[in-house]
Amino acid sequence: MSATRIDGKAFAARLRERVGEYAARFAEAAGRRAGLAVVLVGDDAASQVYVGAKNKATVAANMASFEHRLPADTSAAALLALVERLNNDDSVDGILVQLPLPDHLDEQSIIAAISPDKDVDGFHVINAGRLSVGQSGFVPCTPLGCMMLLTDRLGDLSGLEAVVIGRSNIVGKPMAQLLLDANATVTIAHSRTKDLASVVRRADIVVAAVGRPEMIRKDWLKDGATVIDVGINRLPPEPGKDKGKLVGDVAYDEASEVAAAITPVPGGVGPMTIAVLLRNTLVAAHRNAGLDVPEGL
Ligand code: NDP
Repeated sequence: MSATRIDGKAFAARLRERVGEYAARFAEAAGRRAGLAVVLVGDDAASQVYVGAKNKATVAANMASFEHRLPADTSAAALLALVERLNNDDSVDGILVQLPLPDHLDEQSIIAAISPDKDVDGFHVINAGRLSVGQSGFVPCTPLGCMMLLTDRLGDLSGLEAVVIGRSNIVGKPMAQLLLDANATVTIAHSRTKDLASVVRRADIVVAAVGRPEMIRKDWLKDGATVIDVGINRLPPEPGKDKGKLVGDVAYDEASEVAAAITPVPGGVGPMTIAVLLRNTLVAAHRNAGLDVPEGL
């Protein structure tokens, strides 16, 4: 068997286009564009690239982007003051503080200062709590993107066995919660799980969010499983090359021989994250403006 490749890049492009259409309608109805503020502290190279990409995608989706680039030695007080200003700014619907922050800044206390109704990353404890008790809030972008790919592929997930490998607050835990809400039977595996391969072998749905290159092998998978690979790992460069190849947490080629469907890396889950961020920002904008959130968003 050769698995269907789940094309996250194409799915994300369609979602971004839909968000762009709804954002144009929002601007007409509200008399202003939906706005996303992105705060970057320091000069981490990867973060610079992400922030640039988010800015471009926001503008392309007919929304306003407010970029705040602060020096690496910014104090907690100065950063909190900026967050407070953005919380009170009616042109800002979503606030994203790019992580990781420099070591002298405590991420949890900065995230806690963001208004939960502007927390489009879904990292605030209030939003984690809302997800946990089934209230509408904001769900972290990467797991929500995974969920969109899964429901697009499988439809109803009721009763399916799902194994999530990884229990981070950003991916693993919210992913498990979303699968549970969709009536899957969910197992969360982590670094202390015993005999991980046999746990994974039970799964109709495998979500790998570990950060270990190609850890999940063909013989770990049940025939016909659907595999969502969140991992982004760069292998060491081959001789004569500047950069190593990007791979996921799943050994893609061999897993494809067993799985029914699988996301590639790159081009699978990765592109979904920014698309869902735009979607969450537009949802926030509708709520902040007292407008109904459109059905298809
Ligand atoms: P974390 O490092 O926060 O969490 C990794 C999890 O994997 C932990 O729960 C850890 O267990 C578990 N783990 C580590 N080693 C093993 C092992 N040998 N066996 C089983 N479980 C193990 O990572 P994130 O959740 O933030 O990210 C996971 C991956 O997803 C990374 O590759 C990251 O780059 C990628 N990512 C991709 C995104 C995207 O596509 N846009 C967005 C976010 C992340 P324990 O808790 O016991 O330590």
